[in-house]
Amino acid sequence: MKKRILVVEDEPSILANIVYSLETEGFEPQGCATGEQALASFAASPPDLVILDVGLPDLNGFDLCRTWRQQSDVPVIFLTARGQEVDRVVGLEIGADDYLVKPFSPRELSARVRAILRRCRAPMTPGRLTGHPSTPANTPFQLLEDRAQILYFGSTLPLSATEFRILRVLCQHPGRLYSRSQLMDQAWTEPETALERTVDAHIKSLRAKLRAVRPDLDPIETRRGLGYSLKEHG
Ligand code: CA
Repeated sequence: MKKRILVVEDEPSILANIVYSLETEGFEPQGCATGEQALASFAASPPDLVILDVGLPDLNGFDLCRTWRQQSDVPVIFLTARGQEVDRVVGLEIGADDYLVKPFSPRELSARVRAILRRCRAPMTPGRLTGHPSTPANTPFQLLEDRAQILYFGSTLPLSATEFRILRVLCQHPGRLYSRSQLMDQAWTEPETALERTVDAHIKSLRAKLRAVRPDLDPIETRRGLGYSLKEHG
């Protein structure tokens, strides 16, 4: 079955290029030029992935993403104008899965789309597929690998795909120190496209979600200048 891709971009030539390229690659793209159109299309038929321009004439792409995030974990790739570095971090904090800075090649975009859909289909390491939760020793976490969910003190954490992968890596070896570049290598399929400080942004967002469950605890330890590790308990 063809994967439905919602493409939201107000620049007609860019939109046409993306739609054409995705069709050529065997996807089923749905193009929208405004945020309102995108909201209607998303509600009528939820897509498998969204490509979202940040600067739209009617709505802000980040606001659109936040709206969808309340009800859906659909992967989102943001398109940003050159030099919108601050926006990159904001976008990652609200649960974007990837970024492309204009101008980009349609081939590069298709490669990102395929990579994200691949890891959404198989968010766990092959061979570790299990219907049973695995509980990292001495931590309050439970990994439900086949559902790509992580429980914290029994509560399901509302994680983005990237947050899930980061926390999953940390949970595999509590106490082990991971540098930012190691986390990028393990949690991103194309680590060279990620910035080290985007790891910080994801960790910040993860911590907020963990605090929502247990405000008194901070199970992720920051090792200044080194990276992050999951604290070992008891
Ligand atoms: Ca635009």
